[in-house]
Amino acid sequence: MRNSRFPPLSKSWKDVESEMTAARRGDMPWRDAHNFKPAYFGGEDVLEVANGALNMYLAENAIFSRTAYPSLGQYESDVVDMMLSLLNAPEGAGGSVSSGGTESIMMSVKTAREWARETRPVDGTPELIIPHTAHPAFDKAGHMLGVKVVRMAESPEWRADVTAMANAVNDATIMIMGSAPPYPYGETDPIEEIAAIARARDLWMHVDGCIGGCILPFMHRLGEPMPDFDFAVPGVMSISVDLHKFGYANKGVSLVLLRDAELERYQRTSYGDWPAGVYSTANITGSRSGGPLASAWAVMNYLGEEGYLRVFADQRDIKQRLMKGIEEIEGLEIIANPHALHFFFDSKYFDIFAVETGMAAKGWSAVRAEQPNSIMLWVNLSHQNMVDEYLADLRTVVEEVRAGRLVAAENSVVYVT
Ligand SMILES: *Cc1c(COP(=O)(O)O)cnc(C)c1O
Repeated sequence: MRNSRFPPLSKSWKDVESEMTAARRGDMPWRDAHNFKPAYFGGEDVLEVANGALNMYLAENAIFSRTAYPSLGQYESDVVDMMLSLLNAPEGAGGSVSSGGTESIMMSVKTAREWARETRPVDGTPELIIPHTAHPAFDKAGHMLGVKVVRMAESPEWRADVTAMANAVNDATIMIMGSAPPYPYGETDPIEEIAAIARARDLWMHVDGCIGGCILPFMHRLGEPMPDFDFAVPGVMSISVDLHKFGYANKGVSLVLLRDAELERYQRTSYGDWPAGVYSTANITGSRSGGPLASAWAVMNYLGEEGYLRVFADQRDIKQRLMKGIEEIEGLEIIANPHALHFFFDSKYFDIFAVETGMAAKGWSAVRAEQPNSIMLWVNLSHQNMVDEYLADLRTVVEEVRAGRLVAAENSVVYVT
């Protein structure tokens, strides 16, 4: 029951706690092995490190990291430098910590807008060209920053339509981007080709590495063919990386990385004529917990390259076993060439949402995706011992659907006999 008014009396923590324990009984356990929705689980040991560091700094306000909590200031420079080195940044590159991918993307658009205002001003509303699959955070950023977002209509071959993007460039265009990889389909955009457009037309080029920034460099080292996407590609000016996804930090930490630390002046907001002193922040947030940043620093130091390679190798194996098993089921096919740890499958022959319905009835939780209708699975370490069970259930459910005994449900499970 929702309290409609402010509670008039105090309660004990014990009572509040048991109320909350009861309230969450209907919630999905986030790292349940039957959950294939996005859950960034890299193992119990990793979670223990992340939560331990989170708790150490939960109450410290990271807005004062440079003035009151030098350890937090150090963690901030360290995580930026660690990721810059992983992403082939040149000497003099820089970056800052934000609260999440949305804020990192917002700041990349703001930085590009200010950079363009100063170095290559345009008449009227500046424009940003994005692939069909780009994250809606770019639309949000455009809306809030007065930048017109020009989204491509299609994803030929499941990747950015580079020809359409080149054709969309006009005198007002200031920025272009690609994802490594995008959320839909999971295949990295042709970053080098998009960067070539940026170089030819003097555009700011951003790479949305919110998902892949942590994964792709390690997959590459594991011998998986991965496209170039980072600062090694000439023309890439900024990269967003979510440490709270595949960096395995707690929610609330992401990075905005810049090819040149000097460019940060276009990103930062400072105000000096204030009775409380100078107020200067690189990103949007004011007060923020030091916990998520501390958890990122701790996990990166705990795992190191060795640990990330191990965790990603295990998850790659789970993903490959799942993909192979799915492709062996007649009528199912994997969409695109997924570079990260999520992938999509569909069917040309039967209703894939009916398959989702049947799997949900067997307790498997996954996301229905569209364009085309498909099932999206996000692999994490909790699935290690569930692959055979998942595939066995999937075979059974597909048989039911093919036999016409199972149709897609809107919300509930419907069997047709
Ligand atoms: C998650 C995600 C974002 C947005 O990040 P939030 O942390 O949810 O704000 C942006 N781009 C991609 C590719 C993502 O996967």
